[in-house]
Amino acid sequence: MRELVIDLDAIEANLNVYRKRAPGAKIMAVVKADAYGHGMFEVALKLDRAKVDYFGVADVDEALHLREGGLETPILAWLHDPNDRFTEALAANIELSVANLDHLERVADAARLTGKVARVHLKVDTGLSRNGSTIEEWPALVTAVVALCDEQLLECVGVFSHLSSTSEVDDRAQIVRFDEAVDTAKSLGLDFELRHLTASDGTLSYPDANYEMVRIGVGLYGLSPFVDRTSAEFGLRPAMTARALVTQTKRVKADVGISYGYMVRTKAETTLALVPIGYAEGLPRNASGKAEVSIKGKRYKIESRIAMDQFVIDVGDDDVSAGDEVVLFGDSSLGVPSADELAVAADTINYEIVTRMGGRFRYTFIGAAE
Ligand SMILES: *Cc1c(COP(=O)(O)O)cnc(C)c1O
Repeated sequence: MRELVIDLDAIEANLNVYRKRAPGAKIMAVVKADAYGHGMFEVALKLDRAKVDYFGVADVDEALHLREGGLETPILAWLHDPNDRFTEALAANIELSVANLDHLERVADAARLTGKVARVHLKVDTGLSRNGSTIEEWPALVTAVVALCDEQLLECVGVFSHLSSTSEVDDRAQIVRFDEAVDTAKSLGLDFELRHLTASDGTLSYPDANYEMVRIGVGLYGLSPFVDRTSAEFGLRPAMTARALVTQTKRVKADVGISYGYMVRTKAETTLALVPIGYAEGLPRNASGKAEVSIKGKRYKIESRIAMDQFVIDVGDDDVSAGDEVVLFGDSSLGVPSADELAVAADTINYEIVTRMGGRFRYTFIGAAE
């Protein structure tokens, strides 16, 4: 009845777009948050078969999920709470971000316990003010890391940071701080195989700052990381289509109120079509009166209130009946609304639209890897 169609071939094609954009750099495919709502395991399997270099996830739990599925590609997890399962992570060959002395101690403990050398990436806060060592704490962190590397508990594989994407000036300042942090580490005896800073946007904007690896999330899913530029400009193909079948239609007279709160009343006799997607599926309620859908190639606005399970479309005298396909969003080159358009209607960004899709949608994968 309700379907999220995920085009895994598009995701592989988008990986190849980024490979061309960042020649010589490894690609870390960011598959956190269920691969931005696209289905983490299926996406990761496809990318694994396409020989992606790394997977990036936020939590250790997400990384363990990938390993449990049998994937052997290197994985980095970077958002830890004090109860995270570092021992299991090391046993499963998961690489961990280290952003402070507490992380470092716990990683070293896990290394002692498992007898494994922990592969870590140091995270430095160059200006986003999220996780990452402050520039002030950085020398002490590096010194402690060097000591643990000497004890062969640790192998420091990488150093990374994340841009705020506020402006080119702000991003450039972060790039400078990143280079300075790498130099400081070098002067304290620590070298990194993999420096990685840019995500989907920075990789396109600052090719001089790709270093040895780039971390690509939203672009892999075929969405633009910029609000003012479309994915098509970069040759990226949106991988997610959200669609459903009309459950019923009916003729109603003029001046009939539609859905909760009567945001609209019919102007004349018309046909109403009921679509079984609601805010329980992740369709933002505040897109009521603004978002458009496509039925049989024609656009219609959702003029009335989106409910938990459903919304109503006034199709006038058009030939629409139960069982006709309604596309909420997909690849706009096919004429259907894009996730970006829905994002604008809901006053948010395309990232939030795809990651929030869920509820009772069923997944269908195109081009699934064996
Ligand atoms: C989510 C995330 C990314 C990916 O960002 P996109 O803009 O989706 O490419 C990269 N790095 C870090 C640290 C992240 O949290």
